[in-house]
Amino acid sequence: MTPATSLSARFLDARIPPTLRVSTTRSLGGLGMQCPKCSSPNVQKLDLFWKSLPAESPLRATYAPPDEVASQVLIALAATLVGIGVAVSGAILLGLLVAVGGMVFGAVNHAGVERYRGQLADWAAARLCLACNGLF
Ligand SMILES: [Zn+2]
Repeated sequence: MTPATSLSARFLDARIPPTLRVSTTRSLGGLGMQCPKCSSPNVQKLDLFWKSLPAESPLRATYAPPDEVASQVLIALAATLVGIGVAVSGAILLGLLVAVGGMVFGAVNHAGVERYRGQLADWAAARLCLACNGLF
């Protein structure tokens, strides 16, 4: 059986590829990061920078997170159910129109919510260079 010390010694001997080292420093919140444009180490996470701005700062609008798109799934579901109810009660064309309208509204709203979530994730992951104002 191999003693545990030889296992840890082998691990320390292993050379860490540079790409892995970069991703490790990024996951620690940007410690030791440089701006890709001007090579300045004066880099901050965009969301932390934005939260630290005073309320009257004009930069709050410039670097604000994307506007939230609220999920309207209950309205879309209610419109679809009302449409089905109207169609069953006799006004078939009107009922189908309301039901299809509810489904289309739901699909468009869902796409908007997904887009917002992607933009918010990008914003939260972005870094701001305090030397050249570059975002990356
Ligand atoms: Zn820069």
